[in-house]
Amino acid sequence: MTSDLETQLRAVSLRVTRPRLAVLAALRDHPHVDTDTVIALVRAECPTVSHQTVYDVLRALTDAGLIRRIQPARATARYETRVGDNHHHVVCRSCGAIADVDCAVGDAPCLTAADDHGFVVDEAEVVYWGTCPECATDRTAQRTASPEGTR
Ligand SMILES: [Zn+2]
Ligand SMILES: [Zn+2]
Repeated sequence: MTSDLETQLRAVSLRVTRPRLAVLAALRDHPHVDTDTVIALVRAECPTVSHQTVYDVLRALTDAGLIRRIQPARATARYETRVGDNHHHVVCRSCGAIADVDCAVGDAPCLTAADDHGFVVDEAEVVYWGTCPECATDRTAQRTASPEGTR
């Protein structure tokens, strides 16, 4: 079941270790989670893995390009295994929920900057901010429950 993950590690010349496999599997099943959540997920599989090991694994996998680290303003860093397609994210201002958004037009057009100032651009990060459906529903419910408003 983990053989595809082992292949991924070998492809970037990383030694196959249980913590690395566990982190990759956790992120494949739970995209956009923060470090604490990764630690909890990994420990559910391998209880002996230390926090430091998970930090080290996250850094090694990010450096190797197997996972992508995203850090929206004011939010904690999140990780995901969907790499290389320069997709974007929509973030809820209220609860921090994150979802993937494909490039708005065609194939990674955001990489073509109007003026690249001579830089070689390899990544463009677009973050859409808003309110997720759940928080929008909560807010409507709150407004109905307390007409005076609680804020
Ligand atoms: Zn929300
Ligand atoms: Zn994503």
